[in-house]
Amino acid sequence: MRQRQGYVPQTRRVLRFVEGKAVKDAAGEDTWRAVCVSGDDNECGVDSGEMGGEGAVVKWMTVHAATTSHTRFKRSFSDYAILELK
Ligand SMILES: [Zn+2]
Repeated sequence: MRQRQGYVPQTRRVLRFVEGKAVKDAAGEDTWRAVCVSGDDNECGVDSGEMGGEGAVVKWMTVHAATTSHTRFKRSFSDYAILELK
């Protein structure tokens, strides 16, 4: 393989094992999301997008089910965390 210009050979680095702890960041927003995965060969795929509460996502799922009879969803939740290194 040809070396790229400015290539600097990797020097040996010692990676120290550091313990970390993830603490919830209260300043970050919690979000919920659901994607409709109803259907055998082709999943529906309609996506709620990120919403600010679990109740809002359940409401979105209910409305989607009412118009399509789709009742299977993949849900996800996200929040923010601050990593504290020991
Ligand atoms: Zn659907």
